[in-house]
Amino acid sequence: MSKETLDEYLVVTLEIENHLRFYREMGLEDLGGSQRVFLEYHQTDAVLERSGTTKLTSSSELSNEPKLDKASTDLFGEIIPTHDQSSRQRRTPSLPILESNDSSLEAIMTDIGDCTRCRLHEHRRTIVFGEGDPQAELVFIGEGPGAEEDATGRPFVGRAGQLLDKIIIAIGLKREDVYIANIVKCRPPGNRTPELDEVATCQPFLLRQLAFIRPKVIVALGSPSFQCLLRTREPITKARGQWREWNGIRVMPTFHPAFLLRSPDKKREVWEDMKKVRDYLNTGGSSI
Ligand code: URA
Repeated sequence: MSKETLDEYLVVTLEIENHLRFYREMGLEDLGGSQRVFLEYHQTDAVLERSGTTKLTSSSELSNEPKLDKASTDLFGEIIPTHDQSSRQRRTPSLPILESNDSSLEAIMTDIGDCTRCRLHEHRRTIVFGEGDPQAELVFIGEGPGAEEDATGRPFVGRAGQLLDKIIIAIGLKREDVYIANIVKCRPPGNRTPELDEVATCQPFLLRQLAFIRPKVIVALGSPSFQCLLRTREPITKARGQWREWNGIRVMPTFHPAFLLRSPDKKREVWEDMKKVRDYLNTGGSSI
């Protein structure tokens, strides 16, 4: 068996382990050999009740039609290219994932602690947990912190973040209305794409955050975010703009703002995707 195949096996094993742990934390003891059972369970309000969360029934006014239908290069603002993807290595994490019966965001943060579970801790300055409204109807998930995020501990505050802010405003919301997180919480060196094992190690914490917030819509920004969440290898170029589902929650895959900075002509497509999100939220979840 080749080393690459062996690595793949290790990652898959780790992911299965993480998922089973996640189900247990959600209180699901018996999977009954059927994914349908799990999905039905999650489509109930059981998880919400368990976490003691009260959902907002409506978000901020979404009714204003944004005035953004101009030439595609004008959508969401200016363009600056940067994104370095350098060397790739694979390794299994060395520390176990912490489990907790407390689903609050504070408890998740405490469980993460001064994390050293994967190699990303070696160069990070700050763990970027995620921020926003804990009762948000809309969650954005990016790839991983960049330099500014690493320095400030806040997600999406660099150039890609400024563009994301404009996208949020374009659908009639404010940054404080939504929740923003990443698939890994520590900056990958040189802003490279996170490795599979790094994602697998960090993912349980993101899943716990999502289970707590229980938004109506998740926007997966870019391939790694979409592929990690939906456990698929489907490219974002194919999937974007099509509603998907994650545990009873709508997922809209779209391009990452950093990609838009390099390819401004793609802003038009993101705007089309975001209009679907806006309309879905605006109609209380009844629009397709
Ligand atoms: N890109 C991301 O994917 N996440 C951030 O937080 C910043 C840039």
